[in-house]
Amino acid sequence: MATEDTIAAIATPKGVGGIGIIRVSGAKAEEICHLLFRPAKDTASFQNHHLYHGTIISPDTNEAIDEVLISLMRNPHSYTGEDTLEINCHGGPLILETVLNEVIKAGGRPALPGEFTRRAFMNNRIDLSQAEAVIDMISARTGRGLNLALSHLRGDLSKRIGRLRESLIEILAHLETAIDFTDDDIEPVPYAEISGKIENVTRDIREILSTYRKGKLCRDGMKVLITGKPNVGKSSLLNRLLGEKRAIVTPVPGTTRDFIEEAINIRGMPVNFIDTAGIRNVHAIVEKEGIDLVWEKAESADLIIVLLDGSARLTGEDTEVIEGNRGRKIAMVVNKSDLPAKLKDRELEKILPGITPLWISAKYGNGMDELKEKIYALACDHADDFGSDIVLTNLRHKLALEKSAELLAQASDTIRKDLSPELPALDIRESLDCLGEIVGITTTEDILNEIFSNFCIGK
Ligand code: GDP
Repeated sequence: MATEDTIAAIATPKGVGGIGIIRVSGAKAEEICHLLFRPAKDTASFQNHHLYHGTIISPDTNEAIDEVLISLMRNPHSYTGEDTLEINCHGGPLILETVLNEVIKAGGRPALPGEFTRRAFMNNRIDLSQAEAVIDMISARTGRGLNLALSHLRGDLSKRIGRLRESLIEILAHLETAIDFTDDDIEPVPYAEISGKIENVTRDIREILSTYRKGKLCRDGMKVLITGKPNVGKSSLLNRLLGEKRAIVTPVPGTTRDFIEEAINIRGMPVNFIDTAGIRNVHAIVEKEGIDLVWEKAESADLIIVLLDGSARLTGEDTEVIEGNRGRKIAMVVNKSDLPAKLKDRELEKILPGITPLWISAKYGNGMDELKEKIYALACDHADDFGSDIVLTNLRHKLALEKSAELLAQASDTIRKDLSPELPALDIRESLDCLGEIVGITTTEDILNEIFSNFCIGK
């Protein structure tokens, strides 16, 4: 990827909008600006970070394309660290395409996905974990996910990783002194002291690692599977929770064929509901496949809502659903509380001891607040209490930290055995590289490509 190219892209979403922004970054940004932009006032001095009103013209015909506001942000004071031009156009797709074409003709080239952020990373404006936080910011679905992404973007994780790296570099220096030690040198730091320092770093890493499960829940949301025999009210419940008619509600058993995954926000946490095709003995292939998928989805769910029909006696199908989920995290929910009850709590508690049934009416909305609270308590598991100021949300970071801790354990082990300092030094160096991967100091091109390919064009 040649960073000397000047890249350009439409930075606002596709479709019609009030304004649409074209972003240009690279050495030719200012030249492109002067080629295409005619300021409304001749006195325009094109100061950094100032907005100028004027017209974008086609240099070939000298015809106006759009009335715009532009700003120039010269290096290094821009998002990418390069000269950047932003053109605020009217938000019509044709206008934006036409202006972008002129920018390309004037010497820009279309940007790849995430290329602006990649340049910000290459130019040391942000590190890799901050670049990843940019995606999380854009895709955050709840306040809590957004807060975590913002903390990473501000560099909280980077700073913590930086401190861990400093500690490891110090440990490495001690070990290297021990390797090069000759009698007339200063005494090397004793092994026991080095060991203690390694323990401290390991403890810190473990503390950060322990936040991952909750951090991931805050970022991606928890998965809740609604399961139950056909006609028990799964689609009605899903619609009630989502507040819209999404799934097809029908009195014919087994008609919800597709899985529907939709998220709602419970106390700032994204909760994804998976609707199912119902569990019963079927011959139809479509449903059979659907049922296999139910079990697959159940494996990955954080909580399973076992839905029963309170207006009817328990059937073999209900028992099949309960048995199939035994041992998992279950909320037992009894629907159709508006109809005369045929089920008794005592009977249900006998089947699933320790689990209190919650009665609701999906049709009339009774018990919905209690159900949401139950979901939050069971699936989120106090997800807002992390026990650490840094919260891990990214699997790549988690794996790198795990590897780093593993290598430190290995180093401690060799030190305990009083083996040559070269051996633990090797492990510490590798452990340091793992931490470096998180912030992009020791990251391969493949990983960078993979990360930035998840961005949208224009970011
Ligand atoms: P699913 O097959 O489990 O998805 O069930 P549906 O949501 O399609 O509902 C089946 C039938 O039960 C429909 O006729 C619903 O209107 C009805 N139903 C669902 N929830 C309730 C409820 O709380 N009370 C009553 N009386 N009927 C309900």
